[in-house]
Amino acid sequence: MSRPNSTAARDIAHQLHPYTNAVRHAEIGPIVMDRGEGIYVFDDQGNRYIEGLAGLWSVAVGFGEKRLVEAARKQLDKLPYYHTFAHKSHLPSIELAEKLAEMTPEGLSHVFFTNSGSEANDTVIKLVWYYNNALGRPKKKKFLARTQGYHGVTVAAASLTGLPNNHRDFDLPAIPVRHLTCPHFYRFGNPGETEAQFVERLAAELEAVIQEEGADTIAAFIGEPLMSAGGVIPAPEGYWQKVQEICRRYDILVVADEVITGFGRLGTTFGSEHYGIKPDLMVLSKQITSSYQPLAAIMISDDIFKAVADNSGKIGTFGHGYTATGHPVATAVALENLAIIEERKLVENATAMGKVLQARLAKLASHPLVGEVRGVGLIAGVELVADKATKARFAEHGKVGAYVFARAHHHGLIVRNIMDTLAFCPPLIITESQIEEMAQAFERTLDDAAEWIA
Ligand code: PLP
Repeated sequence: MSRPNSTAARDIAHQLHPYTNAVRHAEIGPIVMDRGEGIYVFDDQGNRYIEGLAGLWSVAVGFGEKRLVEAARKQLDKLPYYHTFAHKSHLPSIELAEKLAEMTPEGLSHVFFTNSGSEANDTVIKLVWYYNNALGRPKKKKFLARTQGYHGVTVAAASLTGLPNNHRDFDLPAIPVRHLTCPHFYRFGNPGETEAQFVERLAAELEAVIQEEGADTIAAFIGEPLMSAGGVIPAPEGYWQKVQEICRRYDILVVADEVITGFGRLGTTFGSEHYGIKPDLMVLSKQITSSYQPLAAIMISDDIFKAVADNSGKIGTFGHGYTATGHPVATAVALENLAIIEERKLVENATAMGKVLQARLAKLASHPLVGEVRGVGLIAGVELVADKATKARFAEHGKVGAYVFARAHHHGLIVRNIMDTLAFCPPLIITESQIEEMAQAFERTLDDAAEWIA
Protein backbone atom coordinates (compact mmCIF):
# COMPACT_ATOMS: atom_id res chain seq x y z
CA MET A 1 0.00 0.00 0.00
CA SER A 2 1.23 3.48 -0.80
CA ARG A 3 2.40 5.97 1.84
CA PRO A 4 -0.04 8.81 2.61
CA ASN A 5 0.59 11.86 0.40
CA SER A 6 2.95 9.86 -1.85
CA THR A 7 2.48 10.34 -5.59
CA ALA A 8 0.90 6.88 -5.67
CA ALA A 9 -1.59 7.72 -2.92
CA ARG A 10 -2.55 10.95 -4.66
CA ASP A 11 -3.07 9.01 -7.89
CA ILE A 12 -5.32 6.51 -6.14
CA ALA A 13 -7.28 9.33 -4.50
CA HIS A 14 -8.30 11.05 -7.71
CA GLN A 15 -7.83 9.11 -10.95
CA LEU A 16 -10.08 6.57 -12.60
CA HIS A 17 -7.61 4.73 -14.84
CA PRO A 18 -8.40 3.36 -18.29
CA TYR A 19 -8.27 -0.42 -18.74
CA THR A 20 -7.62 -0.94 -15.03
CA ASN A 21 -9.29 -2.87 -12.22
CA ALA A 22 -9.95 0.09 -9.91
CA VAL A 23 -10.27 -2.06 -6.78
CA ARG A 24 -6.92 -3.72 -7.41
CA HIS A 25 -5.39 -0.36 -8.30
CA ALA A 26 -6.32 1.01 -4.87
CA GLU A 27 -4.44 -1.96 -3.35
CA ILE A 28 -1.27 -1.97 -5.44
CA GLY A 29 -1.09 1.61 -6.74
CA PRO A 30 0.55 2.80 -9.93
CA ILE A 31 4.07 2.63 -11.30
CA VAL A 32 4.65 6.35 -11.80
CA MET A 33 6.67 7.00 -14.95
CA ASP A 34 9.04 9.90 -14.85
CA ARG A 35 11.04 10.09 -18.08
CA GLY A 36 12.03 8.27 -21.22
CA GLU A 37 15.08 7.87 -23.41
CA GLY A 38 15.24 5.85 -26.63
CA ILE A 39 13.54 2.49 -26.05
CA TYR A 40 13.68 2.91 -22.25
CA VAL A 41 11.42 4.55 -19.68
CA PHE A 42 12.29 5.28 -16.04
CA ASP A 43 9.90 5.37 -13.08
CA ASP A 44 10.04 7.86 -10.22
CA GLN A 45 12.01 5.33 -8.16
CA GLY A 46 14.76 5.31 -10.78
CA ASN A 47 13.96 1.86 -12.19
CA ARG A 48 14.65 1.45 -15.91
CA TYR A 49 12.39 -0.55 -18.23
CA ILE A 50 12.62 -1.55 -21.87
CA GLU A 51 9.35 -0.25 -23.36
CA GLY A 52 8.58 -3.47 -25.25
CA LEU A 53 5.24 -2.04 -26.40
CA ALA A 54 6.46 1.44 -27.40
CA GLY A 55 4.01 2.91 -24.87
CA LEU A 56 0.73 1.87 -26.42
CA TRP A 57 2.13 0.49 -29.72
CA SER A 58 3.00 4.02 -30.69
CA VAL A 59 6.36 5.65 -29.91
CA ALA A 60 8.09 4.94 -33.24
CA VAL A 61 11.09 7.27 -32.84
CA GLY A 62 11.65 6.43 -29.16
CA PHE A 63 11.34 8.55 -26.05
CA GLY A 64 13.12 11.85 -25.49
CA GLU A 65 13.35 12.90 -29.16
CA LYS A 66 14.33 16.57 -28.95
CA ARG A 67 13.39 17.37 -32.54
CA LEU A 68 9.75 16.69 -31.74
CA VAL A 69 9.96 18.86 -28.63
CA GLU A 70 11.43 21.65 -30.75
CA ALA A 71 8.77 21.27 -33.47
CA ALA A 72 6.04 21.58 -30.81
CA ARG A 73 7.78 24.54 -29.15
CA LYS A 74 8.14 26.44 -32.42
CA GLN A 75 4.50 25.92 -33.33
CA LEU A 76 3.31 26.84 -29.83
CA ASP A 77 5.27 30.04 -30.14
CA LYS A 78 3.85 30.96 -33.53
CA LEU A 79 0.22 29.80 -33.53
CA PRO A 80 -0.54 27.54 -30.56
CA TYR A 81 -4.07 26.88 -31.65
CA TYR A 82 -6.35 27.45 -34.49
CA HIS A 83 -9.23 25.46 -35.88
CA THR A 84 -10.07 24.25 -39.36
CA PHE A 85 -13.86 24.91 -39.29
CA ALA A 86 -15.73 27.12 -41.71
CA HIS A 87 -13.05 27.82 -44.34
CA LYS A 88 -10.15 28.41 -41.90
CA SER A 89 -6.87 26.53 -42.20
CA HIS A 90 -3.21 26.66 -41.17
CA LEU A 91 0.06 25.53 -42.68
CA PRO A 92 0.91 22.50 -40.50
CA SER A 93 -2.46 20.82 -41.24
CA ILE A 94 -2.16 21.68 -44.96
CA GLU A 95 1.37 20.28 -45.19
CA LEU A 96 0.50 17.12 -43.27
CA ALA A 97 -2.58 16.47 -45.42
CA GLU A 98 -0.41 16.88 -48.51
CA LYS A 99 2.26 14.57 -47.08
CA LEU A 100 -0.25 11.85 -46.15
CA ALA A 101 -1.92 12.01 -49.57
CA GLU A 102 1.52 11.47 -51.10
CA MET A 103 2.52 8.61 -48.77
CA THR A 104 -0.69 6.56 -48.73
CA PRO A 105 -1.92 4.36 -51.61
CA GLU A 106 -3.12 6.07 -54.76
CA GLY A 107 -6.69 7.34 -54.71
CA LEU A 108 -6.65 8.30 -51.02
CA SER A 109 -6.09 11.99 -51.53
CA HIS A 110 -8.20 13.66 -48.83
CA VAL A 111 -7.77 13.60 -45.07
CA PHE A 112 -9.98 14.25 -42.06
CA PHE A 113 -8.12 14.75 -38.77
CA THR A 114 -9.25 13.71 -35.28
CA ASN A 115 -7.56 13.47 -31.88
CA SER A 116 -7.66 9.71 -31.40
CA GLY A 117 -8.13 6.42 -33.19
CA SER A 118 -11.53 5.95 -31.56
CA GLU A 119 -12.79 9.31 -32.80
CA ALA A 120 -11.36 8.47 -36.22
CA ASN A 121 -13.35 5.23 -36.38
CA ASP A 122 -16.44 7.05 -35.13
CA THR A 123 -15.90 9.49 -37.97
CA VAL A 124 -15.51 6.60 -40.41
CA ILE A 125 -18.94 5.32 -39.41
CA LYS A 126 -20.49 8.76 -39.84
CA LEU A 127 -18.69 9.35 -43.15
CA VAL A 128 -19.92 6.01 -44.51
CA TRP A 129 -23.49 6.69 -43.40
CA TYR A 130 -23.40 10.22 -44.84
CA TYR A 131 -21.93 8.85 -48.07
CA ASN A 132 -24.63 6.22 -48.50
CA ASN A 133 -27.36 8.74 -47.74
CA ALA A 134 -25.78 11.05 -50.32
CA LEU A 135 -25.94 8.23 -52.86
CA GLY A 136 -29.59 7.58 -52.04
CA ARG A 137 -28.91 4.23 -50.34
CA PRO A 138 -30.41 4.86 -46.88
CA LYS A 139 -30.57 1.15 -46.00
CA LYS A 140 -26.85 0.50 -46.61
CA LYS A 141 -25.60 1.17 -43.06
CA LYS A 142 -24.38 -2.02 -41.37
CA PHE A 143 -20.74 -2.72 -40.57
CA LEU A 144 -18.86 -5.99 -40.68
CA ALA A 145 -16.00 -6.40 -38.20
CA ARG A 146 -14.24 -9.35 -36.56
CA THR A 147 -14.26 -10.86 -33.07
CA GLN A 148 -11.02 -9.80 -31.32
CA GLY A 149 -10.78 -6.81 -33.66
CA TYR A 150 -9.98 -3.52 -31.95
CA HIS A 151 -11.23 -0.18 -33.21
CA GLY A 152 -11.44 1.93 -30.07
CA VAL A 153 -13.82 2.77 -27.27
CA THR A 154 -16.26 5.56 -28.16
CA VAL A 155 -19.84 4.32 -28.31
CA ALA A 156 -19.73 3.60 -32.03
CA ALA A 157 -16.06 2.56 -32.33
CA ALA A 158 -16.41 0.20 -29.35
CA SER A 159 -19.37 -1.33 -31.15
CA LEU A 160 -16.98 -2.29 -33.97
CA THR A 161 -14.43 -3.63 -31.47
CA GLY A 162 -14.96 -7.36 -31.03
CA LEU A 163 -13.74 -7.83 -27.45
CA PRO A 164 -16.15 -8.75 -24.64
CA ASN A 165 -14.67 -6.32 -22.08
CA ASN A 166 -15.40 -3.38 -24.36
CA HIS A 167 -19.09 -4.32 -24.55
CA ARG A 168 -19.91 -5.85 -21.17
CA ASP A 169 -21.91 -3.49 -18.92
CA PHE A 170 -21.58 -0.67 -21.45
CA ASP A 171 -24.77 -1.74 -23.28
CA LEU A 172 -22.84 -2.24 -26.53
CA PRO A 173 -22.81 -2.75 -29.49
CA ALA A 174 -24.99 0.27 -30.21
CA ILE A 175 -24.72 0.43 -33.99
CA PRO A 176 -25.67 -2.26 -36.52
CA VAL A 177 -22.60 -4.51 -36.75
CA ARG A 178 -21.91 -8.22 -37.30
CA HIS A 179 -18.69 -9.68 -35.94
CA LEU A 180 -17.15 -12.42 -38.08
CA THR A 181 -14.74 -15.16 -37.01
CA CYS A 182 -11.30 -13.96 -35.95
CA PRO A 183 -8.80 -15.08 -38.63
CA HIS A 184 -6.52 -16.88 -36.19
CA PHE A 185 -5.73 -20.29 -37.61
CA TYR A 186 -3.91 -21.60 -34.50
CA ARG A 187 -6.99 -20.96 -32.33
CA PHE A 188 -9.94 -21.21 -34.69
CA GLY A 189 -8.77 -23.63 -37.38
CA ASN A 190 -10.74 -26.89 -37.14
CA PRO A 191 -8.89 -30.16 -36.48
CA GLY A 192 -7.51 -31.48 -39.77
CA GLU A 193 -8.23 -28.23 -41.61
CA THR A 194 -5.40 -26.60 -43.62
CA GLU A 195 -4.80 -22.86 -43.41
CA ALA A 196 -6.09 -22.50 -47.00
CA GLN A 197 -9.30 -24.36 -46.06
CA PHE A 198 -9.64 -22.12 -43.01
CA VAL A 199 -9.46 -19.04 -45.26
CA GLU A 200 -12.09 -20.58 -47.57
CA ARG A 201 -14.35 -21.20 -44.56
CA LEU A 202 -14.01 -17.58 -43.41
CA ALA A 203 -14.72 -16.34 -46.93
CA ALA A 204 -17.84 -18.54 -47.07
CA GLU A 205 -18.93 -17.15 -43.69
CA LEU A 206 -18.49 -13.57 -44.96
CA GLU A 207 -20.55 -14.29 -48.02
CA ALA A 208 -23.25 -16.10 -46.03
CA VAL A 209 -23.58 -13.14 -43.62
CA ILE A 210 -23.87 -10.72 -46.55
CA GLN A 211 -26.61 -12.84 -48.09
CA GLU A 212 -28.42 -13.28 -44.80
CA GLU A 213 -28.42 -9.54 -44.03
CA GLY A 214 -28.81 -8.42 -47.65
CA ALA A 215 -25.96 -6.66 -49.47
CA ASP A 216 -28.13 -3.56 -49.79
CA THR A 217 -27.95 -3.19 -45.96
CA ILE A 218 -24.19 -3.63 -45.54
CA ALA A 219 -22.03 -0.55 -45.90
CA ALA A 220 -18.49 -1.53 -44.97
CA PHE A 221 -16.03 -4.13 -43.72
CA ILE A 222 -13.50 -2.82 -41.20
CA GLY A 223 -10.35 -4.64 -40.19
CA GLU A 224 -6.85 -4.11 -38.91
CA PRO A 225 -4.45 -5.49 -41.57
CA LEU A 226 -2.79 -7.36 -38.68
CA MET A 227 -5.00 -7.59 -35.57
CA SER A 228 -3.03 -6.14 -32.70
CA ALA A 229 -4.80 -5.36 -29.42
CA GLY A 230 -6.88 -8.54 -29.82
CA GLY A 231 -3.76 -10.73 -29.57
CA VAL A 232 -1.31 -9.90 -32.38
CA ILE A 233 -2.82 -12.01 -35.14
CA PRO A 234 -1.30 -11.80 -38.63
CA ALA A 235 -3.88 -12.47 -41.35
CA PRO A 236 -3.49 -15.89 -42.97
CA GLU A 237 -2.20 -16.12 -46.55
CA GLY A 238 -4.90 -15.13 -49.05
CA TYR A 239 -7.36 -13.90 -46.39
CA TRP A 240 -7.37 -10.23 -47.39
CA GLN A 241 -7.56 -11.08 -51.11
CA LYS A 242 -10.74 -13.10 -50.51
CA VAL A 243 -12.28 -10.47 -48.23
CA GLN A 244 -11.64 -7.72 -50.75
CA GLU A 245 -12.90 -9.72 -53.69
CA ILE A 246 -16.20 -10.48 -51.87
CA CYS A 247 -16.62 -6.90 -50.62
CA ARG A 248 -16.09 -5.49 -54.12
CA ARG A 249 -18.59 -7.96 -55.55
CA TYR A 250 -21.29 -6.77 -53.14
CA ASP A 251 -20.35 -3.06 -53.25
CA ILE A 252 -19.15 -3.03 -49.65
CA LEU A 253 -16.44 -0.53 -48.67
CA VAL A 254 -13.16 -1.81 -47.22
CA VAL A 255 -11.78 0.13 -44.26
CA ALA A 256 -8.19 -0.55 -43.21
CA ASP A 257 -7.70 0.39 -39.56
CA GLU A 258 -3.98 1.11 -39.60
CA VAL A 259 -3.84 2.85 -36.22
CA ILE A 260 -1.04 0.45 -35.18
CA THR A 261 0.24 -0.87 -38.51
CA GLY A 262 0.69 2.57 -40.13
CA PHE A 263 4.16 4.10 -40.57
CA GLY A 264 6.40 1.09 -40.64
CA ARG A 265 5.31 -1.37 -37.97
CA LEU A 266 5.20 -4.38 -40.33
CA GLY A 267 8.36 -3.37 -42.18
CA THR A 268 6.30 -1.65 -44.88
CA THR A 269 5.07 1.94 -44.67
CA PHE A 270 1.49 0.66 -44.28
CA GLY A 271 0.06 -2.74 -43.36
CA SER A 272 -2.12 -2.50 -46.48
CA GLU A 273 1.06 -2.68 -48.54
CA HIS A 274 2.17 -5.86 -46.74
CA TYR A 275 -1.17 -7.59 -47.29
CA GLY A 276 -2.09 -6.13 -50.71
CA ILE A 277 -5.15 -4.28 -49.36
CA LYS A 278 -6.61 -1.46 -51.45
CA PRO A 279 -8.79 0.32 -48.91
CA ASP A 280 -11.52 2.88 -49.54
CA LEU A 281 -10.79 4.43 -46.15
CA MET A 282 -7.60 4.15 -44.11
CA VAL A 283 -7.33 5.10 -40.45
CA LEU A 284 -3.99 6.30 -39.09
CA SER A 285 -2.85 7.39 -35.63
CA LYS A 286 -0.28 6.54 -32.93
CA GLN A 287 3.03 6.40 -34.89
CA ILE A 288 1.87 9.44 -36.91
CA THR A 289 3.26 11.62 -34.06
CA SER A 290 4.96 8.82 -32.12
CA SER A 291 2.15 9.71 -29.68
CA TYR A 292 4.01 12.87 -28.61
CA GLN A 293 0.73 14.61 -29.51
CA PRO A 294 -2.78 13.16 -29.84
CA LEU A 295 -3.66 12.88 -33.52
CA ALA A 296 -5.40 10.58 -35.97
CA ALA A 297 -6.17 10.84 -39.66
CA ILE A 298 -8.72 9.22 -41.94
CA MET A 299 -7.62 8.88 -45.54
CA ILE A 300 -10.62 9.12 -47.86
CA SER A 301 -10.95 7.72 -51.38
CA ASP A 302 -11.66 10.12 -54.19
CA ASP A 303 -15.11 8.57 -54.81
CA ILE A 304 -16.17 8.91 -51.18
CA PHE A 305 -14.75 12.42 -50.97
CA LYS A 306 -16.67 13.53 -54.07
CA ALA A 307 -20.00 12.18 -52.83
CA VAL A 308 -19.47 13.71 -49.37
CA ALA A 309 -18.34 17.06 -50.77
CA ASP A 310 -21.27 17.18 -53.21
CA ASN A 311 -23.71 16.39 -50.43
CA SER A 312 -22.25 19.10 -48.18
CA GLY A 313 -22.85 21.49 -51.08
CA LYS A 314 -26.41 20.27 -51.41
CA ILE A 315 -27.40 20.37 -47.73
CA GLY A 316 -25.14 23.28 -46.79
CA THR A 317 -22.38 21.72 -44.68
CA PHE A 318 -20.49 18.62 -43.60
CA GLY A 319 -21.71 18.93 -40.03
CA HIS A 320 -18.89 17.13 -38.25
CA GLY A 321 -15.59 18.17 -36.67
CA TYR A 322 -13.71 18.55 -33.40
CA THR A 323 -12.32 21.69 -31.76
CA ALA A 324 -8.85 20.21 -32.28
CA THR A 325 -9.36 18.74 -35.79
CA GLY A 326 -5.97 19.22 -37.50
CA HIS A 327 -4.52 20.90 -34.38
CA PRO A 328 -1.47 22.96 -35.45
CA VAL A 329 0.86 21.63 -32.74
CA ALA A 330 -0.14 18.00 -33.33
CA THR A 331 0.18 18.29 -37.12
CA ALA A 332 3.54 20.12 -36.83
CA VAL A 333 4.85 17.34 -34.57
CA ALA A 334 3.54 14.72 -37.03
CA LEU A 335 5.42 16.35 -39.91
CA GLU A 336 8.68 16.33 -37.95
CA ASN A 337 8.08 12.77 -36.76
CA LEU A 338 7.46 11.54 -40.33
CA ALA A 339 10.62 13.37 -41.45
CA ILE A 340 12.61 11.53 -38.76
CA ILE A 341 11.10 8.18 -39.81
CA GLU A 342 12.24 8.87 -43.37
CA GLU A 343 15.68 10.33 -42.60
CA ARG A 344 16.60 7.57 -40.18
CA LYS A 345 15.13 4.91 -42.48
CA LEU A 346 13.02 3.50 -39.66
CA VAL A 347 10.75 1.53 -41.98
CA GLU A 348 13.86 -0.21 -43.33
CA ASN A 349 15.03 -0.71 -39.74
CA ALA A 350 11.67 -2.31 -38.93
CA THR A 351 12.17 -4.73 -41.84
CA ALA A 352 15.70 -5.66 -40.75
CA MET A 353 15.08 -5.69 -36.99
CA GLY A 354 11.72 -7.36 -37.56
CA LYS A 355 13.56 -10.38 -38.95
CA VAL A 356 15.84 -10.41 -35.90
CA LEU A 357 12.89 -10.09 -33.48
CA GLN A 358 10.81 -12.79 -35.14
CA ALA A 359 13.76 -15.20 -35.33
CA ARG A 360 14.73 -14.56 -31.70
CA LEU A 361 11.19 -15.04 -30.37
CA ALA A 362 10.73 -18.13 -32.55
CA LYS A 363 13.45 -19.76 -30.44
CA LEU A 364 11.05 -19.56 -27.48
CA ALA A 365 8.72 -22.01 -29.21
CA SER A 366 10.49 -24.84 -27.40
CA HIS A 367 9.76 -23.35 -23.97
CA PRO A 368 7.25 -25.57 -22.10
CA LEU A 369 4.72 -22.71 -21.70
CA VAL A 370 4.80 -21.40 -25.28
CA GLY A 371 2.05 -22.52 -27.66
CA GLU A 372 2.55 -20.17 -30.59
CA VAL A 373 4.97 -17.39 -31.56
CA ARG A 374 3.59 -15.13 -34.28
CA GLY A 375 4.13 -11.72 -35.82
CA VAL A 376 5.29 -9.60 -38.74
CA GLY A 377 8.06 -6.99 -38.68
CA LEU A 378 8.37 -5.31 -35.28
CA ILE A 379 5.16 -6.67 -33.77
CA ALA A 380 4.89 -10.10 -32.22
CA GLY A 381 2.77 -12.22 -29.92
CA VAL A 382 3.79 -15.16 -27.76
CA GLU A 383 0.80 -17.23 -26.68
CA LEU A 384 1.19 -19.28 -23.51
CA VAL A 385 -0.74 -22.51 -23.10
CA ALA A 386 -1.30 -25.17 -20.45
CA ASP A 387 -0.62 -27.98 -22.95
CA LYS A 388 1.45 -27.47 -26.08
CA ALA A 389 0.18 -30.61 -27.81
CA THR A 390 -3.54 -29.91 -27.40
CA LYS A 391 -3.20 -26.05 -27.34
CA ALA A 392 -5.31 -26.20 -24.15
CA ARG A 393 -5.65 -22.90 -22.33
CA PHE A 394 -4.92 -22.49 -18.63
CA ALA A 395 -7.85 -23.25 -16.34
CA GLU A 396 -8.18 -19.55 -15.52
CA HIS A 397 -7.84 -17.85 -18.90
CA GLY A 398 -5.52 -14.82 -18.69
CA LYS A 399 -4.09 -15.44 -15.21
CA VAL A 400 -0.65 -16.62 -16.37
CA GLY A 401 -0.46 -13.77 -18.89
CA ALA A 402 -1.25 -11.30 -16.11
CA TYR A 403 1.48 -12.86 -13.95
CA VAL A 404 4.02 -12.52 -16.78
CA PHE A 405 2.97 -8.91 -17.42
CA ALA A 406 3.49 -8.01 -13.74
CA ARG A 407 6.63 -10.10 -13.23
CA ALA A 408 8.37 -8.69 -16.34
CA HIS A 409 8.72 -5.35 -14.52
CA HIS A 410 11.13 -7.05 -12.09
CA HIS A 411 13.33 -7.90 -15.06
CA GLY A 412 13.18 -4.34 -16.42
CA LEU A 413 10.70 -5.11 -19.18
CA ILE A 414 7.29 -3.76 -20.09
CA VAL A 415 5.18 -6.02 -22.28
CA ARG A 416 1.43 -6.25 -22.64
CA ASN A 417 -0.64 -9.32 -21.93
CA ILE A 418 -3.78 -9.96 -23.91
CA MET A 419 -5.21 -12.80 -21.87
CA ASP A 420 -2.32 -15.34 -22.10
CA THR A 421 -0.63 -13.78 -25.14
CA LEU A 422 2.30 -11.45 -24.52
CA ALA A 423 2.61 -8.70 -27.09
CA PHE A 424 5.84 -7.06 -28.29
CA CYS A 425 5.80 -3.86 -30.31
CA PRO A 426 9.01 -1.95 -29.51
CA PRO A 427 9.97 1.47 -30.88
CA LEU A 428 11.08 1.29 -34.52
CA ILE A 429 14.55 2.52 -33.49
CA ILE A 430 15.35 -0.72 -31.63
CA THR A 431 18.75 -2.31 -32.33
CA GLU A 432 19.83 -5.94 -32.52
CA SER A 433 21.49 -5.90 -29.09
CA GLN A 434 18.41 -4.29 -27.55
CA ILE A 435 16.21 -7.03 -29.06
CA GLU A 436 18.50 -9.56 -27.40
CA GLU A 437 18.26 -7.68 -24.08
CA MET A 438 14.45 -7.65 -24.37
CA ALA A 439 14.29 -11.37 -25.27
CA GLN A 440 16.54 -12.34 -22.36
CA ALA A 441 14.44 -10.34 -19.88
CA PHE A 442 11.36 -12.09 -21.28
CA GLU A 443 12.99 -15.54 -21.02
CA ARG A 444 13.80 -14.92 -17.36
CA THR A 445 10.16 -13.90 -16.81
CA LEU A 446 8.88 -17.03 -18.55
CA ASP A 447 11.10 -19.21 -16.35
CA ASP A 448 9.67 -17.47 -13.28
CA ALA A 449 6.18 -18.15 -14.61
CA ALA A 450 6.95 -21.86 -15.12
CA GLU A 451 8.15 -22.04 -11.50
CA TRP A 452 5.12 -20.09 -10.24
CA ILE A 453 2.74 -22.50 -11.99
CA ALA A 454 4.58 -25.65 -10.78
N1 PLP B 1 -7.84 1.19 -33.87
C1 PLP B 1 -6.84 0.38 -33.57
C2 PLP B 1 -6.39 -0.65 -34.56
C3 PLP B 1 -6.16 0.50 -32.35
O1 PLP B 1 -5.18 -0.36 -32.03
C4 PLP B 1 -6.59 1.51 -31.45
C5 PLP B 1 -5.91 1.68 -30.16
O2 PLP B 1 -5.12 0.87 -29.74
C6 PLP B 1 -7.67 2.32 -31.80
C7 PLP B 1 -8.27 2.15 -33.03
C8 PLP B 1 -8.18 3.36 -30.87
O3 PLP B 1 -7.30 4.42 -30.77
P1 PLP B 1 -7.36 5.42 -29.51
O4 PLP B 1 -6.92 4.64 -28.31
O5 PLP B 1 -6.40 6.50 -29.91
O6 PLP B 1 -8.74 5.92 -29.41
